[in-house]
Amino acid sequence: MKDILQREHPVLREISRSVPVKDIGAPEIRQTIADLTDAMNAQKDGIAIAAPQIGVPLRLFVVSGALLAQADKTYKGPKEPLVFINPEITKTSKEKHEVEEGCLSVRWLYGKVKRSAKVSIRAYDADGKRIARGASGLLAQVFQHEVDHLNGILFVDKAYDLEEMSEEEILEMQKVG
Ligand code: ZN
Repeated sequence: MKDILQREHPVLREISRSVPVKDIGAPEIRQTIADLTDAMNAQKDGIAIAAPQIGVPLRLFVVSGALLAQADKTYKGPKEPLVFINPEITKTSKEKHEVEEGCLSVRWLYGKVKRSAKVSIRAYDADGKRIARGASGLLAQVFQHEVDHLNGILFVDKAYDLEEMSEEEILEMQKVG
């Protein structure tokens, strides 16, 4: 199991490199996706994770479809891990929401961030197929948080009302319904 790097680690501040399109589907990239998925699934609140968080400075992130469905009833997509390679946010709504946010690389701080309510994203999936989709709600927030990781940005750079919380308190907050 790969360790999730914490905020002082310099890789988290790098601008990650694009994955060469010919390498998508290659064993090393598939291994990185598997490592990311394992590291994410080992965290009860791990809704998504970007490659630099396990020390791989490549533009790719994974979202837990299962946790997303649990946390946001408006999400109707697949429950499997969703893979986004070389993602680009192509549109952001002017409308912004204040949302609560935390990060697997910033244990255990929690705070408020202003995020666009809706975004459109373009990327490749794990098989190298081009994907384009819009998102609102929690998934839109996740897209913005993960693309920030690929640009060396952590949520604490933009957050306010930061509070240190225990793991139990964070898990409690994220229970829905
Ligand atoms: Zn994060």
